[in-house]
Amino acid sequence: MKPQIAVFGNIWPDDALRTLEAPFACHHLARMSADERRTFLKGPAVQVRGVLTTGTIGLDAKTAASFPALEIVSVHGVGVDAVALQPLARRGVIVTNTPDVLTEDVADLTVALLLASARRLPLLDRYVRSGHWQEARPLQLARSLRGKVAGIYGYGRIGQAVAMRLRAFGMAIRYFQRSAGPEPSLRCASLAALAAESDYLVVCTPGGVATRHVIDAEVLDALGPEGTLVNIARGSVVDEAALADALSTGRLGAAALDVFEDEPNVPPALRALDNVVLTPHVGSFTVEARQAMRDLAIGNLLAHFAGKPVLSPVAV
Ligand code: NAP
Repeated sequence: MKPQIAVFGNIWPDDALRTLEAPFACHHLARMSADERRTFLKGPAVQVRGVLTTGTIGLDAKTAASFPALEIVSVHGVGVDAVALQPLARRGVIVTNTPDVLTEDVADLTVALLLASARRLPLLDRYVRSGHWQEARPLQLARSLRGKVAGIYGYGRIGQAVAMRLRAFGMAIRYFQRSAGPEPSLRCASLAALAAESDYLVVCTPGGVATRHVIDAEVLDALGPEGTLVNIARGSVVDEAALADALSTGRLGAAALDVFEDEPNVPPALRALDNVVLTPHVGSFTVEARQAMRDLAIGNLLAHFAGKPVLSPVAV
């Protein structure tokens, strides 16, 4: 009998679904109405041995409890802050994610956001489209990157890939994270110290309880009126009310954001500001990265149910 798996999210293209449906009996939660979902979680869910989910949806503790036979949760994405890791670990459930295969594309998007903010690309695009160029309206000069300091908060896979790119623009790198990291001489003593040293503060940490709202008014003030915040990590890391306040009062120069605390809802105060560049959580949203992420996420399920070690377990 095929192992039963629960599939969360509606991001799976037909070829991925065909790959899944050959070895597994799939329950597609995204295709169920709210009533059907409740009925499923109270009944057939007891047979489910695997979950395939996205980094954004994850698997909360209450839903996980509906799957008493669960053996593995495969996350499509590297962030596992939406997964109830501790309760699952206590039950001996394996959790996997998709690191590495998205690192370069996320780093590219991070640099694109930083450049778009420094050179005010969205404003310039609007300037041309609206006819302001023909009217010879005045334009504010942009800022160059050369000689500036990029402070990377979370110097892991993505943080280091961002640093490699920014060095090519003539920027100096500093970072902060809990461990010493690969270049201890570049590590600042604290997040506030990193912000004070940085022209661009680039957030590349995981989300979750340990980093919730750590980018607060104090950190933003340390970054200052000439400073720019770039966040591709998780919206929860930034106190968005403090950010909107700092940006609108000129205490912070600019921000470029790919992630938000309550996606897809972006605070109107941020949407209204010209000194903010916004993208809809698309760090890994390329044909190549998404294909590799799907292959790895499904590969983890296939490995587990073939009795082999999973390919990319999350250490808890
Ligand atoms: P990673 O290799 O695990 O790097 C994370 C880094 O953050 C580590 O070096 C870690 O060092 C540091 N860190 C962890 N907890 C911290 C804390 N409490 N305070 C300070 N530093 C901390 O992960 P990655 O592959 O680079 O991915 C990073 C994050 O990017 C993911 O978790 C995900 O949320 C986000 N992401 C976003 C997108 C997108 O589409 N926008 C795509 C992929 C990933 P220490 O443990 O030594 O502190």
